[in-house]
Amino acid sequence: MSGELLAVEGVTKTYSMGGLFGHGAFHAVDNVSFTLDVGRPEIFTIVGESGSGKTTLSRMILNLEPPSAGTIRFRGEDVTRARGARMRMAFMGAMQPIFQNPFEAFNPLKQLDRYLLMTARRFRDARRRADAEAFADEALRKVGLSYAEIKGRFPHELSGGQLQRVAIARALIPGPSLLVADEPVSMVDASLRMAIVNLFKTLRDDLKVSIIYITHDLATAYYISDRIIIMQRGKVVEGGPARAVLDSPQHPYSILLKSSVLSPDATIEGAFGQSRTSADPAGIEAGPIYRSGQQT
Ligand code: ADP
Ligand code: MG
Repeated sequence: MSGELLAVEGVTKTYSMGGLFGHGAFHAVDNVSFTLDVGRPEIFTIVGESGSGKTTLSRMILNLEPPSAGTIRFRGEDVTRARGARMRMAFMGAMQPIFQNPFEAFNPLKQLDRYLLMTARRFRDARRRADAEAFADEALRKVGLSYAEIKGRFPHELSGGQLQRVAIARALIPGPSLLVADEPVSMVDASLRMAIVNLFKTLRDDLKVSIIYITHDLATAYYISDRIIIMQRGKVVEGGPARAVLDSPQHPYSILLKSSVLSPDATIEGAFGQSRTSADPAGIEAGPIYRSGQQT
């Protein structure tokens, strides 16, 4: 099958500024365009420092906010026109979000299996409990967990990494064709990040799910991305095949971004080459300068 899975065309989000600094408008996202194809699952990465507009863009893709200008089509339909319960359910099932903080994604007083069963009932029409449990178990196994491990557990009983896996499992239950993951590993312990990042690769390859991976971490971006766009102040300054872009960035901002992850004595190969492609959490952790207080 071919055609467009997602088409982002000239998308802009304008916020008005008022108060102390006078009046005016500023573009949190400024004329962004890209397309993902059906039948070519890929990890499409949006990289940029804090405040560059990544979350705003992802929220528009997920139809959580309308664009100020431009259009976003998902499977040929304008996402802002998904009207009516049926169409909205179909849309939500096919495009699932993964958020930064898994502890915020789940109510601390609610057992995790209840989320999974509810999702199976809503999206897979699982009427009987055994059917819902089977869907939950199937999804959990795709992320390296099982229903037996999760049953009766509360969010705080799991590590951030495990909980993010449960969030990913929940997102898989409806059988999505696109995951939109906004900084999905930045709250996860460095030692567990690569496992989650690797999981995205497996989902792409085995389930044929496309993933929009939003990050400020160039090291994981280099490791898993097929294509990448680099955003600065709402604009895409550079984009293309991930390795080509990151091996020889052209735009001054991309060059700066890349040089910022290099320690003074590091070689380019050392920063992005083989040593990083081993599951080396220390290498990943040593990556971007953006760690310092710029989590969004
Ligand atoms: P990122 O996710 O890349 O850190 P965001 O999309 O969160 O960036 O933010 C981009 C810019 O838009 C920032 O300057 C942020 O302060 C601003 N912004 C985000 N949401 C709003 C809003 N609801 N109202 C006004 N400004 C916003
Ligand atoms: Mg953000």
